[in-house]
Amino acid sequence: MNIRDQIISLFFQLSREEQINLLDELPKSDETFHNLEIQQDIKCCVHCNSSNIIKHSMYKDTQRYKCKSCNLTFIPTTGTLVYQIKKKNQFALYASIVEKEGLLPIKIMAKRVGISIPTSFEWRHKILLSIPKTKNKFSDITQVDDLWFQYSQKGRKNLDYSRRRGGTKRRGDNNFQVKIIAASDKKQVELKVAKIGRISANDILYAIGDKFKKNTKLVTDAHPSYQAFAKEVKLEHIYFESKKHQAETGENVQYINNIAERIDTWINRKLKGVSTKYLQLYASYFAHKEKNSIEIKKYTSNTKVWDIYTNLEKMYEKFIKTRSVRTYRCPTKRKRKAQNWNGETIINFSYL
Ligand SMILES: [Zn+2]
Repeated sequence: MNIRDQIISLFFQLSREEQINLLDELPKSDETFHNLEIQQDIKCCVHCNSSNIIKHSMYKDTQRYKCKSCNLTFIPTTGTLVYQIKKKNQFALYASIVEKEGLLPIKIMAKRVGISIPTSFEWRHKILLSIPKTKNKFSDITQVDDLWFQYSQKGRKNLDYSRRRGGTKRRGDNNFQVKIIAASDKKQVELKVAKIGRISANDILYAIGDKFKKNTKLVTDAHPSYQAFAKEVKLEHIYFESKKHQAETGENVQYINNIAERIDTWINRKLKGVSTKYLQLYASYFAHKEKNSIEIKKYTSNTKVWDIYTNLEKMYEKFIKTRSVRTYRCPTKRKRKAQNWNGETIINFSYL
């Protein structure tokens, strides 16, 4: 029996419901991820945004363009989450599973889509990086609090075991706690990895300092860092002693506490921990999903994914060296054939 007949025979062994689900999951032939390469409405350069571009020979079946401002060439997928990905049908299937079922374990995704485990890992991170960033600022009443995750070097090669995780003895040690600043005005949520260690007003500024409209009321507990932060950004500040749970006028941080509890369960129980290097990606996904649906086909307009993906290790190195007392160890070295990064600006985690 040839493969096609085998598949048909196997298909009829499924229940009617399983058959319908399977047909629903199969990528359609007009998938956006394919069409991206032949799209015609290319108006500006993916590198410098200039509209001074010309057609410049073909790359396989794809039109290549050249920018007359920066002299670099590109194709319609350059820099996007599908750049350099050849198995576009499988990627479409992967993306549709993430949209419908969320982030399933890397191994399960590899099996369901028919790809290797490293590819499954890579695709997940590219999808997470492509999620749009909120541009709106907080207004009205905005709750802010901090939460923390154990410092983790999960997956990093050549570390001895005790260094891969923070270790249980150090649970109370601030210098092994990765602090996330969580903020919400109930219309949108921000979760920003700020530092490893005790939080100061400067760390809050670093994470969310530019996120507030004038006349926004800040609601926090009475931690002095929040008082200093509110003064610095000139916000009206309502605060209360943690044990009282709310201000005398009724304001509280219950929504943030609720988010904190859910993201903690998701990361520590469901995903069994996330490496600090990737924590911001997961936090941003969680924050986005709180108020929006995940629609990966729409994220193909983000042309910064490749640059950021290929430079995550450098960003992690910068984060460890500037925002923690930890030692940066065992760099991952992976050579890539197409790296457009000019090395001048390594963006901060909090922009991911
Ligand atoms: Zn250009």
